[in-house]
Amino acid sequence: MIAKIDVDIPTCIGCGTCWVVCPDAFREMEVGEEYKAAATGRLAPEKALREVAEGCPSLSISLIDDSGAVICPTEAQREELRKRLQW
Ligand code: SF4
Repeated sequence: MIAKIDVDIPTCIGCGTCWVVCPDAFREMEVGEEYKAAATGRLAPEKALREVAEGCPSLSISLIDDSGAVICPTEAQREELRKRLQW
């Protein structure tokens, strides 16, 4: 069960998908001249959170369970992103 959402601000590219698709859990935040995502501190249905986290182009969203473990993205998903960024 998801207990917490973290957004890695430096890697977020500000595409807006998360705060448009899941506004309960994410909001836009002005950082200098850019917009980045921030967690609102509220949760949303797990299915929606997983879809948003897995669809984040920079995998900047971490879904954390009540034991403190990151359940999304998985290490395999991170490795896939690293490979895509290397070409
Ligand atoms: S989907 Fe990812 S890259 Fe896009 S705004 Fe949200 S956290 Fe940032």
